[in-house]
Amino acid sequence: MRTSLLFKNLMRGPMTETAPAPGDQALAELAGRVDRAALARLGRSLAIREVDAGSCNACELEIHALNNAFYDLERFGLRFVASPRHADVLLVTGPVTKNMREALERTHAATPGPKWVVAVGNCAVDGGIFAGSYAVTGGVDKVVPVDLHIRGCPPTPTDLLKGLLALLERPQK
Ligand code: SF4
Repeated sequence: MRTSLLFKNLMRGPMTETAPAPGDQALAELAGRVDRAALARLGRSLAIREVDAGSCNACELEIHALNNAFYDLERFGLRFVASPRHADVLLVTGPVTKNMREALERTHAATPGPKWVVAVGNCAVDGGIFAGSYAVTGGVDKVVPVDLHIRGCPPTPTDLLKGLLALLERPQK
């Protein structure tokens, strides 16, 4: 019994999701913004600091899924770090509540260059369902410059991967 189980597991292919192609829209957006020389300097490895700027946390659930065994983000050279001082990319969710504005500005200032900001979810793009509220600024680009927008409410892990993998490509200017 154990031998057959071992044999079955040895013969089975990897359980990880096949890598999606980088998103065309993401590549097009990055082409006009990302400094190719800086990307070349970083190679194919990026450290990501996630910033929750007032999200409902559903975007975070999808972002957390990137670390599970199915999506296995680290196989692409992408990894999450605990400090903005170690980060190349800020992955920001939420409509940026007024309470979180200063925290986002300070996190951005603490991230060494070259750096990129990715706005994740409709809230981070333009305020989403919170747009117009007195308590929000209405999107990440109202506070810090954004290089890439990944829409969705929430975006799926595959959508997130498509955007992040586009950052590892060499956009043509
Ligand atoms: S985009 Fe949707 S899932 Fe993400 S924080 Fe906003 S409401 Fe929540």
